[in-house]
Formats: sequence, C-alpha cells, structure tokens
Amino acid sequence: MSSLLLSRRDLDFLLYEWLEVEHLSKRARFADHGRETFDAVLDLAARVAEEQFAPHNKAADEHEPTFDGERVSLIPEVKQALDAFAQTGLLAAGFDYDVGGMQLPQVVAMATLAWFQAANVGTGAYPFLTIGNANLLLAHGSPEQVATFVRPMVEGRWFGTMCLSEPQAGSSLSDITTRAEPRGDGSYRLFGNKMWISGGDHELSENIVHLVLARIPGSPPGVKGISLFVVPKYLVEADGSLGERNDVVVAGLNHKMGYRGTVNTLLNFGEGRHTPGGEPGAVGYLVGEPNRGLAFMFHMMNEARVGVGGGATALGYTGYLKSLRYARERTQGRPVSGKDPLAPMVPIVEHADVRRMLLAQKAYVEGALALILYCAKLVDDSKTAETQQEREAAHLLLDTLTPIAKSWPSQWCLEANSLAIQIHGGYGYTREYDVEQHYRDNRLNPIHEGTHGIQALDLLGRKVVMHGGAGLARLSGAIGETIGRARGAGGEAAELGAALQAAVERVGAVTMALWGPGDVDLALANASVYLEAVGHVVVAWLWLEQFLAAAGKDGEFYDGKRQATRYFYRWELPKTGPQFDLLESLDRTTLDMRDAWF
Ligand SMILES: Cc1cc2nc3c(=O)[nH]c(=O)nc-3n(C[C@H](O)[C@H](O)[C@H](O)COP(=O)(O)OP(=O)(O)OC[C@H]3O[C@@H](n4cnc5c(N)ncnc54)[C@H](O)[C@@H]3O)c2cc1C
Repeated sequence: MSSLLLSRRDLDFLLYEWLEVEHLSKRARFADHGRETFDAVLDLAARVAEEQFAPHNKAADEHEPTFDGERVSLIPEVKQALDAFAQTGLLAAGFDYDVGGMQLPQVVAMATLAWFQAANVGTGAYPFLTIGNANLLLAHGSPEQVATFVRPMVEGRWFGTMCLSEPQAGSSLSDITTRAEPRGDGSYRLFGNKMWISGGDHELSENIVHLVLARIPGSPPGVKGISLFVVPKYLVEADGSLGERNDVVVAGLNHKMGYRGTVNTLLNFGEGRHTPGGEPGAVGYLVGEPNRGLAFMFHMMNEARVGVGGGATALGYTGYLKSLRYARERTQGRPVSGKDPLAPMVPIVEHADVRRMLLAQKAYVEGALALILYCAKLVDDSKTAETQQEREAAHLLLDTLTPIAKSWPSQWCLEANSLAIQIHGGYGYTREYDVEQHYRDNRLNPIHEGTHGIQALDLLGRKVVMHGGAGLARLSGAIGETIGRARGAGGEAAELGAALQAAVERVGAVTMALWGPGDVDLALANASVYLEAVGHVVVAWLWLEQFLAAAGKDGEFYDGKRQATRYFYRWELPKTGPQFDLLESLDRTTLDMRDAWF
C-alpha cells in the first residue's frame, strides 16, 4: 500500500524529472553522491518515519509533556524514535564531512526531513531545531565551539534550541532584555527569561545546547546591541565530558493547541537555582563578535524559514493523502443525475464537490512541495553553483522567495488540512481520525519564525525593494524564463504562460503603485494581501514548471499534474485580480481605522 505520509512518486517527479537533482553530483561538494545515494536516504527516511515516528504521533499529542518542578517527562516512544533517528545518521545529512556529516545536497536533506515532519512533527522538531542550531554555530562559532558543541549534535547525542523570544519581545526582538555580563576569563553570565523555547528541557539527549540572544551591558540600544551566546545545560569539560549543571532552568511549560510532542518552555537564565563555579548566572560563551547576534540569526533565517514552510507542507500533504483514501472508501449518496434509491451509494470521491476539495488540496500541497524543494535547491546553488554570478543570483532569488516559502505553505497547507477535515465530515471533527491533529499542529506555522504579518512586511518592505528592486527583477526574470519555454511549447502551455505573464506584470505595476507616493505607512498597511497575491503568482509559476516537466508524458500521474495545473490557473490565480485591484487603489480603510471605533 502506498504511504499516507507523502507521495514518493511525487517526490521523485519533483527531484528528478523537474529539478534534475542528480546533476548536482557533478559539483565537487556532492561528487560522492548520485541518484543511488539520494534514493537510499529517501527510502531510509520513509521507512524510519513510518515505523518509528508515525505510530506515536497521536499518543504524544494526547499525553503532552509534564513538568514536576524538577524534570520534564515525555512518553517513552519519543526517545525511542529519536534514538532510532540518530542511528540512521540522517541528522547529519546536509553537514560537511569534516564535522561528521554526509554532505548531501540541501534539497535532498529537505526531502528526507519532510517524511519525519509528515509522520510526527512534534518528535521531528528536536532534530530540526538541532540542525538549525548546529548550522548557526558552524557559520559563526569558533573552531573550539564547533568541536565542542557541533559534533555531538551532528551525531544526535545532544540537542539544540533557539532562544530568541522573551515574554515582552516576540516579533520585536530588538526589545529583548536578557543580559550577558562578561567575566574576566572570556566567559559570560546570562540573566533573564526566554519564552516559548521549543525543546527547552527534557531528558531525550545527553545535553542541550541553547543558542541565546542577549545584551552585553553598555551595548547600543536596539538590534545593534544584541549578541549571541552558546549556553549548554551541562557545562562541558576540556575532554568533552559533561560537567556541572548550568544555571538555566524551566520556569514552566506552555500548554499548546498542537505540536504537543515538542515540549515548549519558559526558561530562566541565572535565577540562582544552580551555581556553576560557585556563583549564580548561566555560563555562556560569545558566538562571533559582540553585537552581531541578530545579524547571525538572520543569516540562518532563510534556511529555517524554508524549513518551517517544509513542515507546513508535510502536514498538508499527509492530510491530503488521508482524506483522499477516506473519500475513496466512504460511500454516501448517489450521483445527482441518477437518484434511484435502490442503487448502491457511491464513494464520496464521485461527488464533484468532494473532488473540488481534493483538487484544491492537491494544488496546495504539491505546489507547496515544489516551492520548498525549489528554494532548498537555491540554497545548494547559492553555495555550490559553478560561477560567482550564479551563486549570487541564486542567493538573491532565495532571499526574495523566503517570506513566501515560509508563509504560503503555512496558510494554504493549513487550508488543505481544513479541507481534509471537511471531507471526513463529522468524523473529521473527532480525535479518532488523524486530520484534526494535523490541522492543530499546522496552526503554529503562520505564528512562529516570524508571523504572517512580519513575513508580509519583509516581502514588501525589504525584499522586493532591496538593491534598487533587484530581488523583484530576479524573480520576474526567473518566471519570464518559464513563460518563454511555455510559449515555445505552444498550445495549452502557451495559454497558461500568457495568464502568468499578465499576473507577473500586475505584480510589477502594483509594487510601483504601492511605493509611488513614498508613504511607508500606506504602502505597508496592506502588506499581507500583497504577500498572499504574490505567493499565488509564485506558486502558479511553479505549477507551470510542473506542467512543462510533465509535457509529452502519458499516464495517470502526469494527467493528475496537468489537471491540478488547470485547477490552479482557473480557480486560484484569478483570486489575485481583486487583491491587486485593492492594493493598487492604495486603500486606507485599515490604516484609517481607529482603536476607539472597534
Ligand atoms: C509553539 C511555539 C513554539 C515556539 N518556539 C520558539 C523557539 O523555539 N524559540 C524562540 O525564540 N521563539 C519561539 N516561539 C516564539 C515565536 O517565534 C513568537 O511567538 C513569534 O515570533 C510571535 O511573537 P509573539 O508571540 O510575542 O507575538 P507578538 O509579537 O506580540 O505578535 C502578536 C500579533 O501582532 C502582530 N505584530 C507584531 N508586531 C507587528 C508589527 N510590527 N507590524 C504588524 N503586526 C505586528 C503579529 O503579526 C501577531 O499577529 C515559539 C512560539 C510558539 C507559539
């Protein structure tokens, strides 16, 4: 039976028939790899995800982590699955050989992780966070920090966290107040509270490596005065063994709507519960230079945000496959044109309205997967493409697409989860079926790693205007190249290309109109609508790419790709027309609304 987590057939299509990732092995970094190794890790990921992660997805949701004032406890299956995961070595997929990694392309690593996110996003979050943490230390840490902290994480023995948010500072990280006092020996002592920290405490790994944003006293106010520190739960001796308990403790757990298997904590640094070296204060080590902490975080943001989009996609995808199976099995009613009460009831997939909901899900989740894999390949291109010019072009396009790669799947794959519930009718609203949990789990994705509204400000306020509009020009150029191929192919592809051309022209015109008056407040007031409209245009582009990759190929799989493309162009892309009209009118309704009028 085919998997209900992801479609391997679709992954193979996207990776090999569209993105042609096997050609990456021509680059020196990936020379040891080829289709054989890529397939082997994808097979392994699918198997371990099915056997070790999926079976306890519900149990981890029903029995959320507990805290008795001393210890955080989770159901034992979480640790068993993570130990099995560590044994596969998959956590090391994208890392360099010299830190114990497999040096696989990011696009393949992303596809392997997606299996775990589809199977059990709560358990999958521990390695996911650890990968982000290790990447940040690799990029900005000292060789000693890399040797001490990164290797055990790549081996899956220690897990990592990202400690940015504070109770009073979420979106506005420039307002964090955790302070880091220097000690004469090069170390620091940290004092403050960090809110919402995923994986903040547990006994799933031997040690926990916190990456913490804090201010060194006397630093400038705002973003320019924030530094990054590595703060281990247990201090590490010179020989790598674990030493004293550091002064970082759980103040409480957050009880969440979904993602419950990932323990979420309020952490206190330096409250004096532990006194390493005989004094209170969490021992921390500065990463890179002082006051560059937020810049370092932003450096890693592209990959982390594309990863969040990947998680949203995986949850949407599994919900789609489960509702598809349900629609084929559940019988209800008869065709509208033949109401013979003695005729057997038909499977609900026979009803056009159910097919509408399935097609919408297919268009969202397969479109989102294309977007995520495309962006992951841009990460590879930005690091390993042959020429400097190609690397820079890939980086610019990735930068521009990142807010969309984070937000579009978070919005539309959540909508896919809602449709999956709808297809299950009343059963979908119960905890006996999986789809309600997928919806609750996915509801996080428009919130963390920069909310939907913050991504919108990033796209319209920074990305499309940066370097004199170079980001938008690069995106339009990439889309234009696809349209050129569609025109060359003629027929239906050319018609789709013409529709896309008109939409891209509107993106350009609307962007100019928004920024024309030079009124920042007005331009950004409706940024979320802009993000959503441009997101739809981008995914329409990637559907045309898939349509072209399927050209001349027979079989139901390719027919499905063609029909989903038609759906996207007839039902989804036209939604952008009224959105662009609204934006172009420089509407002030939200801007002029007053607090007192609510
Ligand atoms: C389950 C979960 C896990 C998390 N894990 C981590 C983690 O591991 N590490 C970590 O550091 N953080 C983590 N976070 C924190 C997360 O990143 C923040 O919740 C998020 O950045 C939003 O911050 P906030 O909750 O304080 O909301 P706020 O910033 O208060 O935002 C509230 C609302 O106001 C809007 N808003 C805020 N500022 C603006 C603005 N300037 N313009 C327009 N709209 C605005 C937002 O879009 C949002 O809709 C996690 C959060 C959750 C819920």
